[in-house]
Amino acid sequence: MILKGFEELKVFLKKPKNIVVVGHRNPDGDAMGSTLALSKYLAKKGHNATVVVPNEYPAFLHWLPGSDTTYRFDWQNSQSQRAIKNSEIIFLLDFNALHRVGADMQNTLEQYPNDFAMIDHHQQPDTVKYMYSDVEICSTCQMVYQFIELNNDLDLIDADIATCLYTGIMTDTGSFRFRSTTSKTHRIIADLIDKGAENDKIHNNVYDANSYNRLLLLGLALSNMKIVPDCKTAYITITNEEKKRFDFQKGDTEGIVNYALSLKGIIFAAIFIEDAEQNIVKISFRSKGTFSVNQFSRNHFEGGGHDNAAGGKSDLSMEETVAKFTSLVVTYQQELAASYEN
Ligand code: 5GP
Ligand code: MN
Repeated sequence: MILKGFEELKVFLKKPKNIVVVGHRNPDGDAMGSTLALSKYLAKKGHNATVVVPNEYPAFLHWLPGSDTTYRFDWQNSQSQRAIKNSEIIFLLDFNALHRVGADMQNTLEQYPNDFAMIDHHQQPDTVKYMYSDVEICSTCQMVYQFIELNNDLDLIDADIATCLYTGIMTDTGSFRFRSTTSKTHRIIADLIDKGAENDKIHNNVYDANSYNRLLLLGLALSNMKIVPDCKTAYITITNEEKKRFDFQKGDTEGIVNYALSLKGIIFAAIFIEDAEQNIVKISFRSKGTFSVNQFSRNHFEGGGHDNAAGGKSDLSMEETVAKFTSLVVTYQQELAASYEN
């Protein structure tokens, strides 16, 4: 755990400030939940806080309280730039390095003259002036709760803040099932329910909001699944043509990789998704046990993340990317065999 400059930050925030709160590119439930919750908390402390997200986020998160007040850097560029220019500090939430916001926004942040404060749970964070980094914590939303707790401000958590925090903890823990989910996580969740988070509604809004096309795409993805049995590995591919066929919307492929990991005996799963916009194959990796997909992705696919959940990319074609992956996997056969008993 790294807690750097916390007392100094407290002093800095004693007077009302203009603050921008930023999440990573392709924001997920934890990025949206944590940025919205922190900005609402900062507003309650008398600050003027604006959330700027790099690009579009999934429709199943649009209902989050306050999401209509966020700026999207890609298509509300002048408002975003103005908010950043007028800010006296920027909070970086749910990411560990500036490149995670995408090239355009990274460029803007690199020229930022003031200080950054990072709250994040990813491995190997860049160093910024103020840092709260803990790779043991399941979600940035739990860290925002603990940040508020460190400031003795738990009383300021209202139903909207509780709802945002609950959502990010729920999505980043696979609905409270991953090993990172601790008794403390459950105690925080209990407190968030007491403070007004409506758990049944949140689950319903996030998980029972599928479009017909999204389920058809899931069906196709499952039929594309391949297994490398000697390596306890399964992977899924989705091409650009397949995305188009089912009117792909942002977030439609979220979570599909977990189906590969749900196969009995499988402890390493990957999904390869063509991204025509960026001309890359975007990859998600998941594992069980000691096999670190963070390290695997860092070593071979320009990515990173956590030990058991990471992302990466490839500039090769889909066929070449899959060939690279399958030939790499066999070199990890022993590590994979020892990773997890199931
Ligand atoms: P997902 O596969 O759900 O997109 O991401 C899994 C985890 O890995 C998330 O915590 C996400 O922030 C991180 N991640 C995803 N893509 C990348 C990437 O390209 N680089 C790095 N460093 N982390 C990533
Ligand atoms: Mn997260």
